[in-house]
Amino acid sequence: MRYFDSSYFTYKNNQLFCEDVAVEQIIKQVGTPTYIYSKKFFIDRYTEFTNAFKEIKHSIFYAIKSNFNLNLIKIFSNLGSGLDVNSEGELYRALKVGIHPQKIFLSGVGKTKREIELGIENNILLIKTESEEELILIDKIAREKNKIAPVHLRINPNVDPKTHPYISTGLAEEKFGIPEEEAIEHFRLAAKLENVRPVGVGMHIGSQITTIAPYKEAIEKMLELFLKIKSAGIKLNHFNIGGGIGVVYNDEKPFTLQEFANKVIPIFKKFECEIMFEPGRFLTANGGIIATEVLYTKQNKKKNFIIVDASMAEIIRPSIYDAYHHIQHLVKIENETIIADIVGPVCESGDFIAKDREIIKCNSGEFLAIMSAGSYCMVMSSNYNGRRRAPEIMVDKDKFYITRSRESFQHLLFDEQIIEELFQ
Ligand SMILES: *Cc1c(COP(=O)(O)O)cnc(C)c1O
Repeated sequence: MRYFDSSYFTYKNNQLFCEDVAVEQIIKQVGTPTYIYSKKFFIDRYTEFTNAFKEIKHSIFYAIKSNFNLNLIKIFSNLGSGLDVNSEGELYRALKVGIHPQKIFLSGVGKTKREIELGIENNILLIKTESEEELILIDKIAREKNKIAPVHLRINPNVDPKTHPYISTGLAEEKFGIPEEEAIEHFRLAAKLENVRPVGVGMHIGSQITTIAPYKEAIEKMLELFLKIKSAGIKLNHFNIGGGIGVVYNDEKPFTLQEFANKVIPIFKKFECEIMFEPGRFLTANGGIIATEVLYTKQNKKKNFIIVDASMAEIIRPSIYDAYHHIQHLVKIENETIIADIVGPVCESGDFIAKDREIIKCNSGEFLAIMSAGSYCMVMSSNYNGRRRAPEIMVDKDKFYITRSRESFQHLLFDEQIIEELFQ
C-alpha cells in the first residue's frame, strides 16, 4: 500500500501526525469528520512561491475561494500576500482579518451592483472586469461615488489548459473573460470612460494545470496584447497571470515552481511591469486532510464498500470533477489489500470519495485520512441531508487549535421559523 508523500502529514510509530500532533489526539477531542490543516505547509508554499520569483517585481494575491478559513487567510496576509476575492462574502471575510483594502482585489464573472459598490466604497486595489456592460456599470457606480475605480481587464486568451473541463476557463467557448480579439477595443473604452482607470490586464486559464506549455502560450499571447495596448497610449502597471498551478493528488507530475519561473521569467521581463499571481490550490491543497471514521463495511456480488462518516457534503470534488484523493489509515496496519468503493452516508449515488480503490482492508471503528483536502473542500461544503459542517483545526508544531467548531443544530436552522399563519 502506498502512503501519500508529505513532510507535513507523516507517520511516527505508525500513527499519522500533522506536524507534531497525532491526528488521533485531535479527533479524540473534536470527533469526525474533521478538516485538519498544517500551518507550516502554508508558510512553506508561500515562501517557495515568492522566492521563485524574487528576481522580478511581483505580488501574490491568494485566491481565498480555495479555502477561506480566517486563520489561513491571516497566515498569508501576515506573510505579505494580497487577497483575491470573488464575492461580497469573500470580501467580508478578507476585511475581517484586518488586511489593508489596497491588498485586495475583486474578481468574478458576474459581480452584482452591490459587490462593485462595496469594492469601490472600501477602496480596494482594483476590480477585475470581464465584459463591456460591467465596465460601464463600474464607471457609473464610481461616478455616483465621486471616485475613480482602478480596473483590470480579464482577457480570455483562448488556450487549452489541458485540465478537467469543469475547471478549464481559458478556451473561447467558456464564459470567462473578454475574447482576446476584442481586448483592444475594451481598453480603448476603459481609457475613455471618466471614472474608471485601466491599470492592468489579466488572465486565468484554468485550474490544476500540470504542464508549463499552456501558460507559456497564453503569456506570450498576452505579451503581444500588452505591447499593443501600450502603443495605443494606455499605460498599464500590472500583468496578472491568474492562478491554476497544479499539485500532486495521485501520480501527477506537475512542474516545480522553479522550473516554471525559469521558463516564464524571461517573458515576464518583457512586460516591464509588476507581475501578479493568484494562486489558490498550490498554496493550500496539500496542507489539509479530512479525518473520518469507518462506520461499516459490506460486500455485494460485485463490490466491496467502506462506508465512512465523511461525505460529498464535506468533500464534493470526487463527485463533480471525478477527482482523486488519496485515502489511508490513521494507524498503519498490516492487512490484506482490497478493492473497494469508499462512500459517505448521504443519500446519493454520487456520494463517493473513491471508486474501485485499492486500500488496506479496514474495520468499523477505524479511522482514515482523506489527503489533499486543503483546497476546494470546506469552501464547497454543504448542509445537505441535514449535516452540520465539520470543524477546522489548525496545527502549529505541537499544538492544535479549533479555528471553527462543528456546527450546532442552531446553525442548521439559523433564523428559519415556523410561520403560524401558514397553518391557520
Ligand atoms: C479559482 C481562481 C483562482 C485560483 O485558482 P487555483 O487553481 O486554485 O490556483 C485564481 N484566479 C481566478 C480568477 C480564479 O477564478
